[in-house]
Amino acid sequence: MPIPPLYGHEGIRNRLAGAIASGRLPQSLLLEGPRGVGKQRLALWLAQALVCEDRGKGKGEGCGACQHCKLVLSLSHPDVHWFVPVELSKKGADADKQVELVAEALGDELAARRERPLYEPPSGLASHNIASVRLLLRRLALTPALARRKVFILGDAERLVPQTGADAAANALLKALEEPPADTVFVLTATEPEALLPTILSRVVRVRVARLPDSIVAVFAQRELGLKSQRDVAQRVAAAEGRLGRLLATEDRAAGGAAAAERFRAAVQGDPVGRYAFALGQQPFQARGGFTDMLDGLLAQLRDEARAGRDTEKVVEAIAQVLEARGLAQGNVNPQLVGAVLAEDLAGEAP
Ligand SMILES: [Zn+2]
Repeated sequence: MPIPPLYGHEGIRNRLAGAIASGRLPQSLLLEGPRGVGKQRLALWLAQALVCEDRGKGKGEGCGACQHCKLVLSLSHPDVHWFVPVELSKKGADADKQVELVAEALGDELAARRERPLYEPPSGLASHNIASVRLLLRRLALTPALARRKVFILGDAERLVPQTGADAAANALLKALEEPPADTVFVLTATEPEALLPTILSRVVRVRVARLPDSIVAVFAQRELGLKSQRDVAQRVAAAEGRLGRLLATEDRAAGGAAAAERFRAAVQGDPVGRYAFALGQQPFQARGGFTDMLDGLLAQLRDEARAGRDTEKVVEAIAQVLEARGLAQGNVNPQLVGAVLAEDLAGEAP
């Protein structure tokens, strides 16, 4: 099914369409703004405008009717490469194998988004790792399959992680952003642009994407989420604060994860009995999702603390421990056990 239309952002759309029509669109763009306002949807809109057959008519917008537009709207255009953060399940595979795994993971993710276009924020472990960068570079080297140009969308670009020993790939990406091939446009999106590598930030033209007015959020809630009752709509719209993503139930999951992480940390700082009681309170296998949400909440908090300059070494170690627990929780290990071990680890370095 086609993805939902782009809601709002008329001002930016006009500017971008004007830039396309006059051939002045920068080739490396960063769309930055709060989570859930539709930055990646806007990037897809831009990609559609860039590959549309009808672009010659001078409006700089996708027509919505040609083959190219239809393919973009069903997330199937071979020249629109949408990279999102992914989790690599198999570590230690050789470089080529890892690129294959990333291609597979991305394919799965896009297939899921075709089915269910309103997607969740990426999990705490997902990233654009060096294998993603290598895949991007391979696709960059190809001539466009169908359109006259290629568009690379790099969602949540702050998840682009530097990796030692892979400088060649990282440098190749920087070079491509600085001087993209003539037939290529890069559109990066970020919620926290200050978390982007400065070497990337200095190579892109930054475009600020603002929150949406409540009137538009309300229309989205009614049309795309099927909310009927006036009171329901009003409540959800008020809570969304201009972010469509906040309307989705998954944000409740993130909030639930954050709250559970708070309880976990409180338990960690208590006595050993309290720690075990908390760990045993974790639901066993059936409710693994809740446990990983809690770990994601914990990761988010620790990352905030690292950014705020708290004792970095300790925070980094704690992050590593949570990541390890996160890996175990995805495997076949009982969440109660993982929780108990993690609580014990973190207790040693509570602030
Ligand atoms: Zn078109």
